[in-house]
Amino acid sequence: MSKTVEEINRKILNRTVRVVTADQMPALVEELGAEQAAAGVDVVTTGTFGAMCSSGAFLNFGHSDPPIKMTRVWLNDVEAYAGIAAVDAYLGATQGCETPGADYGGAHVIEDLLRGRPVVLRAVSYGSDCYPRKELLGEVTLAGLNQALLCNPRNAYQRYHAAANSGARTLHTYMGKLLPGVGNVTFSGAGELSPLMNDPGLETIGIGTRIFLGGGVGYVTGSGTQHDPQKGFATLMVQGDLQGMSPEFLRAAAFPGYGTSLYVGIGVPIPVLHAGIARAAAVRDRDIETGIIDFAVPARQRPLLGRCSYEQLKSGTVRLRDRDVPASPLSSLHMARRIARTLKERIEQGSFQLSIPAAKLPVQGAAGPLAIQPPRPDAPSRRSGSRVAAGERVAWERALCLSCGQCLGICPAGVFRRDNDWQVTAAEQHCTGCGLCDRVCPAGAIHGGDHGR
Ligand code: SF4
Ligand code: SF4
Repeated sequence: MSKTVEEINRKILNRTVRVVTADQMPALVEELGAEQAAAGVDVVTTGTFGAMCSSGAFLNFGHSDPPIKMTRVWLNDVEAYAGIAAVDAYLGATQGCETPGADYGGAHVIEDLLRGRPVVLRAVSYGSDCYPRKELLGEVTLAGLNQALLCNPRNAYQRYHAAANSGARTLHTYMGKLLPGVGNVTFSGAGELSPLMNDPGLETIGIGTRIFLGGGVGYVTGSGTQHDPQKGFATLMVQGDLQGMSPEFLRAAAFPGYGTSLYVGIGVPIPVLHAGIARAAAVRDRDIETGIIDFAVPARQRPLLGRCSYEQLKSGTVRLRDRDVPASPLSSLHMARRIARTLKERIEQGSFQLSIPAAKLPVQGAAGPLAIQPPRPDAPSRRSGSRVAAGERVAWERALCLSCGQCLGICPAGVFRRDNDWQVTAAEQHCTGCGLCDRVCPAGAIHGGDHGR
């Protein structure tokens, strides 16, 4: 038998939907079989709560008076990328604070904003005719921002390599503290609760899937960077309104010697549309293998010290080099369970409906090494502006023209024209050299003989 997302949503509305968490599903499928389990369960809820470095927030501050085009922005002394219009910035979770000695970064600013704390905004600019202000300093709060959009390029790794250290000294890494001589193993990911582990074929999770994100509602906006489902390392790009989230499910962290990161709570509902989905959602920790890589080797392709299952990792010890080595998670399994349960309750209470993805996520991806070559000595120079000096006839480069039309209202000699399709052309022979079109063209298509590209 099969069912549709619309049918499940109707059950959510009339409170007859049957939901289980992903860690309950294996026993159900074992007991009833996949067909019966699919008939009896409508939704499986998943959850994960780990350090997801590839996270951040787009913030729109609103315009000051007089206005400023923020070219560099700091929030509590953490720089945010400001090359986005005038008063927008992207604050990355791993961006460090410039105050010496501070174990603080973009993730902490996001958490402070969520907790309602004021954050010091500092911005500088070069000043322009439209944005004359050059400096700005003051406090802002989340409630006072126009928009705050959590937008995470790579979250919810399907699984993750575990880490150990065969070297002679303790290492401080993004996988936590690794003791020398393979003194411990750390791991990340929620195993059988992991969203992408419960839909490895990406059959139900797609672009537009509504999810639990940071305690609020978010959406899958695409595959994440380094998405590599064929190797079992699928990832998600997600976004959601930060103003609807909770600091319970979005927490800043600092890993000594590495830097800051953001623990992000993500729960994805898996609609059980048929027996195949029920079977996939019955994955157990013992079925999920991962490699234990050796951080003592400072190479991109670190060697494997061994392989093990999430069941072994979660047991607290793994067998490595003929001895039992303590294993501990970086992700909170407690919170992953809580997220799966909270999402289950929201669905059962009718406050969370499932969405139908607008498009599938790619089943092929790439997580290859950096492809880089030494810079060529004859690398092309950067563009000069669009300069025209009075007294010289302009040159116009058709290939650069955007047909934006700005020049049409500037030239008194009618050099620039458009056709009925708004395509712009130029008749340079009519140019009188008045110079009015100096610095008009945003594409650098108009220039004088001495000032051209
Ligand atoms: S201003 Fe430049 S880009 Fe725009 S239509 Fe004129 S030549 Fe083309
Ligand atoms: S220099 Fe003057 S006449 Fe020549 S194209 Fe520019 S605006 Fe037109």
